[in-house]
Amino acid sequence: MKKDLLHIKREGLATADDLRGRLPDESTKKEGPYAVIECFEEIPCNPCVVSCRFDAILPFEDINDLPYVDFSKCTGCAVCARVCPGLAIFIVDESMQGEMGTIMLPYEYLPLPEKGEQVMARSRDGSELFPATVVRVLKGGKGKTALVSLEVPKESLQEVRAFSVIEDESPAFHSSETYDPDYESPVVCRCEGVDLNEIRDLIARGYKSVDEIKHRSRAGMGPCQGRSCRQIILNELARDAGVSLDEFEGGSFRPPASPISMDILAKGGEEDAENS
Ligand code: SF4
Ligand code: SF4
Repeated sequence: MKKDLLHIKREGLATADDLRGRLPDESTKKEGPYAVIECFEEIPCNPCVVSCRFDAILPFEDINDLPYVDFSKCTGCAVCARVCPGLAIFIVDESMQGEMGTIMLPYEYLPLPEKGEQVMARSRDGSELFPATVVRVLKGGKGKTALVSLEVPKESLQEVRAFSVIEDESPAFHSSETYDPDYESPVVCRCEGVDLNEIRDLIARGYKSVDEIKHRSRAGMGPCQGRSCRQIILNELARDAGVSLDEFEGGSFRPPASPISMDILAKGGEEDAENS
């Protein structure tokens, strides 16, 4: 099942070939909701596997393995999507009659949209697709990510992987004025237990780089080395600086760029880490 995923590390986008083997067959799709896992980072992470009480995610032989779903066991319960720090799990339901299905997407911005609200459905690369209606909202909190279900034409269920709130001029973010301090702050770095309020507080106090925030909060210093939280912190810093993400200077990203075994380190790097 192992594929050459180096191009995803470079370009950040999965191709149709990468997604092969991650979807059920046509008859299983009609039986009920199922999880689509688009996780391509070989990092020490397994909350999806351990949280699934149906053993529907194939067991890992190594903590760096990639997760694959056994669709004969998956009920689409969404427990795995709630705990995935990479926001890499989507729950698709195309079992209903008619042309429309639903996709449940992880969402870490506030305020959450409301049921019945129109949002802009977006593709994997963030491009606008079409307006879609929110049909269900599961709030986050206590280490669980909020999930938002959109009603989407069945033919587009494998295209929609994000959404933005339509009223917001800057779709990637909500302004600090709309931020509700009473709402339980979403977790940004699950490895070190750092939430969004803490990151925003540090930025407001004058810490203006990823490295400064990392050293003050430990966000990005856990086993995954910032693969999940770094982008969120960069987004917050760019928003605070009033520049686009492309214009914002990021902090340093220390090697190793991908996890490698102690065995390879002990041999002095004779082997390519990608082959480990
Ligand atoms: S949706 Fe539920 S049953 Fe399916 S893989 Fe996730 S936790 Fe397991
Ligand atoms: S990032 Fe999400 S999908 Fe990937 S291994 Fe971790 S919990 Fe599972």
